[in-house]
Amino acid sequence: MAIASQVLEQPVVVFSQNYLPISRINVKRAIALLILGKAEALDFGQETELFVRSPNLVMAVPSYIRLTFTSTERIWKIPPVNRREVLRRDNYACQYCGNNKRLTIDHVIPLSKGGLHTWNNVVAACEQCNQYKSDRTPHQAGMLLHSKPKAPIHPTVAFAEKFWRSEHLPPDIGGNSISC
Ligand SMILES: [Zn+2]
Repeated sequence: MAIASQVLEQPVVVFSQNYLPISRINVKRAIALLILGKAEALDFGQETELFVRSPNLVMAVPSYIRLTFTSTERIWKIPPVNRREVLRRDNYACQYCGNNKRLTIDHVIPLSKGGLHTWNNVVAACEQCNQYKSDRTPHQAGMLLHSKPKAPIHPTVAFAEKFWRSEHLPPDIGGNSISC
């Protein structure tokens, strides 16, 4: 059996009232929501392995819960194009070589060549790559971009995308449980 403190840190995926995966929280917070009636357990047919016991309560801990109230999404705006936000979007890695030290911002099409200071034209680049690339496009410099830069997306949407792509899918709705 798992140690209680480990159980309390287990991740629970939260779905919105409309059954959209919106975030991941720990068991402690999930239990609070369940006890307050703000969430219900979602049953995808999987076995619950975790139980939390207190003197007067034994609770099976679900892996998925659904909010019972309409969660008001916080208003979210596309962040401004600055060093901090660009590095965050690019996971603090140079988009040319993967280096995570001495990061700068590179304009893919240099400003001097008409490139714009927009999300589609900025990437994190290490000092070395940036200096080597200099006043050239990646093509001219013979460099390859790891990703096509684009504006960050709403964190909830990003979470949902990642969730549906990850192996956290319960077997019932996963793609590999279909047998002929
Ligand atoms: Zn680099």
